[in-house]
Amino acid sequence: MQIVQDALQQGYYEQYEKKIYDQKQLIFISKALNSNLDLGSLIDSILNISLAQSQTFQVGIYLQPEIDRHEFFLKDNYIGFDLNPNIAYELDDKTTFINALNTSSWGTFTMEDLREIDENSRGAITDEIRQFESLSPRLLLIPLRARGRVNGVIVLGPKTTGEPYLSSEKEFLSDLASIAAIAVENARLYELATTDMMTRLKIHHFFQTRLREEMEECQVSGSPVSLLLTDIDHFKKFNDTFGHQIGDLVLIEVAKTLIRIGRALDVPSRYGGEEFALILPKTRLDDAVRIAEKVRESVEKTEVVHPTSGEILRVTISVGVAECDAARDKTNADIIKRCDDALYAAKRNGRNRVELG
Ligand code: GH3
Ligand code: MG
Ligand code: MG
Repeated sequence: MQIVQDALQQGYYEQYEKKIYDQKQLIFISKALNSNLDLGSLIDSILNISLAQSQTFQVGIYLQPEIDRHEFFLKDNYIGFDLNPNIAYELDDKTTFINALNTSSWGTFTMEDLREIDENSRGAITDEIRQFESLSPRLLLIPLRARGRVNGVIVLGPKTTGEPYLSSEKEFLSDLASIAAIAVENARLYELATTDMMTRLKIHHFFQTRLREEMEECQVSGSPVSLLLTDIDHFKKFNDTFGHQIGDLVLIEVAKTLIRIGRALDVPSRYGGEEFALILPKTRLDDAVRIAEKVRESVEKTEVVHPTSGEILRVTISVGVAECDAARDKTNADIIKRCDDALYAAKRNGRNRVELG
């Protein structure tokens, strides 16, 4: 009898210790995720943490790709899944499926859970089930919920042991998803607050902050940073001839080019009205000039189609480029002034040109 009691007590302590360990893990994870406002690296962290905590080789996450898009797409940094090229891995937010996740309080869903929902809703989520089955017939879904609605779905493959997930493991994963959901929501709100919604470029204040950080890095460690400042040539002509809406369309197309040519670390920004900037961290002047030329050429090749007449409008930009010189450029204003002077030289020298500051 004593032996049984001891064993029970031992089991109880083990469970208790495991709970404390899990809570500590969650606090640690919460700190790591909530200190990250960059959505891209945040998603990588969520995937890696989910993988590390769940004894599986397969993990992915469905998220809304942009601030004002409502469909969920399987992010392409999933791990371990073999996707079927004939299946679109996306979830419409208007469907019964997302509605079921929104209204349910369950923290996790097995495929059996989904089949039950499907039966009760007369086959309303059969398409989604087929999509998930193609990832793994024994998938576990963990919805991310923030402010009362789903803002993502983690999908996990089966455990490598072949055993089903224990309810304590599901509870842990569900707590992890709550933390991840808040971190995703914060990153989204930060993105919203720092992005110019018309052009998708970063707003002026964000630009100044990031440039200051890069300038400080240059002063302290000598890490290079360059800056491009662009201004659309004869932009008033678009507004005056076709109206402001077409002017806006031209701005959007030029901004798209800047975003497309900018590399992962670069910061494409809206400096002012039709003046855009590109911060180029870790970049010396010769590479900055190459990038500036690439942007200028791509804009020159861009065809902006007038939405009603179908007329093709052509647009060019002038660009000023400078690399931070730690001895000369003490503040943002110093390097911006050199770029601006170069930009005016480009205008004077005939427009559709790149000049160095
Ligand atoms: P330049 O080649 O010398 O740069 O000639 P420009 O016509 O482009 O001259 P300028 O740079 O002075 O023109 C800026 C114009 O951009 C004036 C302003 O009305 C217009 N603008 C600024 N912001 C916006 C915007 O958000 N939408 C539209 N449609 N126009 C804008
Ligand atoms: Mg201007
Ligand atoms: Mg202009």
